[in-house]
Amino acid sequence: MSDFDYESRIVSIPDYPEKGVIFKDITPLFADSDGLVHLVDDIADHFLGRGITKVVGAEARGFLVGAPVAYKLGAGFVPARKPGKLPREVYSQSYSLEYGTDELQIHKDALKPDDVVLIVDDLVATGGTAAATAKLVEQSGARIEGFSFILELTFLNPREVIAKEFPDREVYTL
Ligand code: AMP
Repeated sequence: MSDFDYESRIVSIPDYPEKGVIFKDITPLFADSDGLVHLVDDIADHFLGRGITKVVGAEARGFLVGAPVAYKLGAGFVPARKPGKLPREVYSQSYSLEYGTDELQIHKDALKPDDVVLIVDDLVATGGTAAATAKLVEQSGARIEGFSFILELTFLNPREVIAKEFPDREVYTL
């Protein structure tokens, strides 16, 4: 964990997008040049030297975190997208939301079995998105080295959900 003050650069909005949810708006953190440098350096420095060849981020805020972290690690970036967005052959993974299901996809040729992958997103809540992204990576045969997020909603126990299916993988949050 970093001692940089991320919290003051993240705005909490009660009852958005629906009653009972406290939405964590990370756009001020990305708009702050110090904040952007710190978050990218913190995550990338933590995973440096671990052979990561690809960073995978889920649509859409995972792209914001993932691409600069990949650049700093000297790795490639792979977007996990909502259905209908990727034009070539894809692996698909559906996952449960509070109401209904959603799905993420990656291009079949985006990852190879010898890739070492870091999965990132802005925030982990239930862990469902992260676990679905990890299952996509597994479909490609690549190895998952760890997960990283700016924020973790600890009261929802996302680490338990991730550890159930992906034990021994590090979960690093700022
Ligand atoms: P989950 O799959 O439950 O871990 O949810 C994680 C995904 O939903 C991430 O892509 C987040 O950007 C988004 N998300 C979930 N809860 C919140 C929240 N309270 N504030 C902002 N984004 C959220």
